[in-house]
Amino acid sequence: MSSCNQDLSGLDAGLYLRKSRMEEGLDTDEVLAKHQKTLLDYAKEHGIHIIETYPEVVSGESLYARPQMLRLLQDVEDGRYDCVLCMDLDRLSRGRMKDQGIILDAFKDSETLIVTPEKVYNLSDEIDEEYAELKTFMSRREYKIINKRLRRGLQQSIEDGCYVANAPYGYKKVTIDRKPTLEIYEPEAKFVRMMFQLYAQGYGCVSIARHINALGARPHRSAEFNRSSVARILHSPVYVGKIVWNQKKHIKKGIKGNTKNIVIYQPKEKWTITDGLHPPIVDKELFDQVQAILDKRYIPSRNDGTIKSPLAGLVKCANCGMNMQRLVMKGEPYLLCNRPGCCASTRFTLVEERVLEYLERTLEQLTLSPTSVLAGRDTSVLETTLTAIHKELASTQRQKSRLYELLELGEYDIPTFRERMDVVKNKQSALERKEADTLRAIQDAKTSDPASLAAKIKYVLDNYSTSDATQRNALLHSVIQTVFYHKEKKTKPTAFYLDFILVPN
Ligand SMILES: [Zn+2]
Repeated sequence: MSSCNQDLSGLDAGLYLRKSRMEEGLDTDEVLAKHQKTLLDYAKEHGIHIIETYPEVVSGESLYARPQMLRLLQDVEDGRYDCVLCMDLDRLSRGRMKDQGIILDAFKDSETLIVTPEKVYNLSDEIDEEYAELKTFMSRREYKIINKRLRRGLQQSIEDGCYVANAPYGYKKVTIDRKPTLEIYEPEAKFVRMMFQLYAQGYGCVSIARHINALGARPHRSAEFNRSSVARILHSPVYVGKIVWNQKKHIKKGIKGNTKNIVIYQPKEKWTITDGLHPPIVDKELFDQVQAILDKRYIPSRNDGTIKSPLAGLVKCANCGMNMQRLVMKGEPYLLCNRPGCCASTRFTLVEERVLEYLERTLEQLTLSPTSVLAGRDTSVLETTLTAIHKELASTQRQKSRLYELLELGEYDIPTFRERMDVVKNKQSALERKEADTLRAIQDAKTSDPASLAAKIKYVLDNYSTSDATQRNALLHSVIQTVFYHKEKKTKPTAFYLDFILVPN
């Protein structure tokens, strides 16, 4: 919906400043300062939090000649903002037609609002008329083709090192002869070296993560290192001065029924590696030594397209809300939380058996006395859970307000603020997911049809033993929505707890 009266209070915003075509002859600093004041007043009046300002001092027509816009786009694509504030839509989208496509799509895909003093634009809302107007410049088909080609071009130039969007851990972005490249950032680089050295000495990724977290290492996008983030660094040829293409594949929201944008880490065979311009952090000998050990232990990640775990995407850690993962240790598959030290792991087969037992028990009860089971799907436990979730959500809200205060007081610089805010936001979205799951479960317990549920569970149990991992996973997903897993440290192997939420009927 687009209206000036929309409630914008509490939204996080980036502020984009650029001269309009009409102001071309005027003094840039003066013009931008004037616009900045107007927009800051607007933000204050509407309760919008400005996180960062992007003043476009040089103003070329092409996207590549607008460094602030490129930076803003990256942040918008990363979903850092709820909205972007600018004087009018023209500042954002003016330029060559094909560049407009990239810009508008970034806002659309990330569901970021464009807020101008005149009007609020929501590009993910298909019926937004202004957007429709912009699109009529080209036929829909033409628009899509050009856009796809350009997106690939932009991605390529980022990976090429022509425009280094976000420096990898251990590096800092610098511009040499107007060409952005990477420089070693020693406070992080020392941890990178440590990771490689420890791994070569035989330590595993989890103990390395624990070790460097304790020494104060912090990754860019989350609060602490874990198995995956350490492993990703150990695998990355960036640290011997190479540039990797095609390491990640992006699958956009809506394709193949995905509900959000997904990044897949491709298997190594699909990577393209070339020499970069940046200095290596680790010497080749150590790197090769680590790769040799890694290759022996290499287990394709869960995102390589084939499902190896029948419980994939089903079991969440009750502690932190992250998906539990299947990992083979000493030849035996285990189910564990990715966060070091979060909760104790369990042999995979024990959890799988417990899930099947639960289904058998539910089926039995449904058959014996259908109504009592559904009445007995105790919503009071769920209601208690819901109350606890609401309390925690209120506390994350207070944490967020406190962070804004610290930013305004100048106690935090922007990187620190973002880092802390990311942690709080991750926690908040985990809680919100849990809230939605719980609400659905309560609703379901009140409305479900015992006979159809029984039939679905029976089908799962009858076909489970003759199915492969992918099929088993699909079977379980047909009846179970989420399983919350919990286990205290140093308890018996079977002393783990599972809370089930069935899919709505
Ligand atoms: Zn956890």
